[in-house]
Amino acid sequence: MSVIEQAVPTRYPDVRNYIAGEFVDGNGAPAIDVTNPADGSVISRVPLSGSADVARAAAAAKAAFPAWSATPIKERVQVFFRYKTLLEKNIDELAALVTEENGKIDSEARAEVLKSAELTEFACSLPQITAGEVLEVSRGVECRVERFPVGVVASITPFNFPNMVPNWTLPNAIALGNTFILKPSEMVPLSAGRIAELLREAGLPDGVFNIVHGGQETVEAICDHPDIEGISFVGSTKVAKIVYRRGTANLKRVLALGGAKNHLIVMPDAEPEMTSNNVVASMSGCAGQRCMAASVMMAVGSSDHIIERMVRIVRAMVPGVHVGPVISRAAKERIEGYISEAEKAGAKVLVDGRGYVVPGRENGYYVGPTLIDLVTPDMRIAQEEVFGPVMVIIRAKNVEEAVAVQHRSPYGNAASVFTESGGVARYVMENASAGMVGVNVGVPVPREPFGFGGWNESKFGVGDITGRGSIEFWTKSKKMTTKWNKEAGVNWMS
Ligand code: NAD
Repeated sequence: MSVIEQAVPTRYPDVRNYIAGEFVDGNGAPAIDVTNPADGSVISRVPLSGSADVARAAAAAKAAFPAWSATPIKERVQVFFRYKTLLEKNIDELAALVTEENGKIDSEARAEVLKSAELTEFACSLPQITAGEVLEVSRGVECRVERFPVGVVASITPFNFPNMVPNWTLPNAIALGNTFILKPSEMVPLSAGRIAELLREAGLPDGVFNIVHGGQETVEAICDHPDIEGISFVGSTKVAKIVYRRGTANLKRVLALGGAKNHLIVMPDAEPEMTSNNVVASMSGCAGQRCMAASVMMAVGSSDHIIERMVRIVRAMVPGVHVGPVISRAAKERIEGYISEAEKAGAKVLVDGRGYVVPGRENGYYVGPTLIDLVTPDMRIAQEEVFGPVMVIIRAKNVEEAVAVQHRSPYGNAASVFTESGGVARYVMENASAGMVGVNVGVPVPREPFGFGGWNESKFGVGDITGRGSIEFWTKSKKMTTKWNKEAGVNWMS
């Protein structure tokens, strides 16, 4: 992407920040291209906002906070009942926008928007599950806990789910009384603007939700702004560490989700058809650009019959039809580089997706789904996040050896086992070093009300980013002790 000096007409108008209920220009911010990865065309431009733009959004969010936080939660969630309906009503257009800026195929984009609706449904239930606690702790003395919003909060999101990841955080954070600044990925900034419009249509007061577009400088300004109390981040581990360190050094609460390297352990007794279908779907869905995508298959014992099925399924997949492009030319080159390096190091490429060109979309960033056998745990492709439709197969003698390889990964988002044995399943669930584990599930994403969050270098901070696990992050609790009864018990604290 290059800094644009002269405006060239694009399919979408230039992206603008959204502050206090209005779309506004950045404060002299330079702009960069937004590209459709399916054909490499420039579809819009996005500003790289600076600290003045972040300050403007923070001021709007701060001004909106007193009235919004004082609105009872049962009234606040009414906005989200309407927002959920609007997501569903506009799914065709929202999914098409995701496809255009991110590249994922239509069925994947629709699934993303439906997941946003499910996340919103959870936010609608928050009044039912955040009722406070109360107990008579001494005769006539009552302790109660009530939750209060944190204040102005910010959410920084990655390129791979332009609609869903913003909706991981905004419905819960806003329903719980916070006012909000979204900093979308500069590679996929278009969906955020539609989210703002739908929230406005749903009746959200101006200033409660704001968007500041940009990249590194914008994020740094968010980490440094004194009026922003909490930051959630989703993206690579490298940047998650930067945001976690800088935000907490400025005494903010930060929850930063990072990258992943997810292992699927396939036992010889696994049901072959279901296993081969699920393993391939996990590694190739969203072109492998999911933090929950499987990228290492630990083939335990004799699994050749399952691998042969996987090869047949992958060979039948057509990039451009069954698999979308990856996000950029740089990503395509990086992914293909990993495959070539593994091949040179002695791995066997069973299905090769390098150099794939989709007819009619010659400038698209396609990588065909790729299977590589005989990979060893020390190879770079077995250790680092590839973030493309590539599955490496590592052979293991037994489940203990397979779990030991999983432990060598610095990440800890997801791990799954395919088996018909309850004992083996339990062993993997207990011993895998990951925050989300599965049995016979290729993508073990917990669904609401359960929270989403990994371990190790896949997450920094306490709590989960969605579900019940997020309530603690988006609120602060107040402990209240009262004594009104004349006959209240007197104890050592009284
Ligand atoms: P990224 O880390 O490059 O970017 C994420 C955000 O950080 C963007 O908004 C970007 O503008 C900003 N950013 C980039 N570089 C920065 C810097 N030096 N300083 C400050 N801010 C910076 O991630 P990405 O490429 O957009 O997304 C892919 C990554 O996200 C993968 O590693 C994937 O595993 C991860 N991811 C993780 C989860 C999870 O739940 N753990 C979910 C989705 C994606």
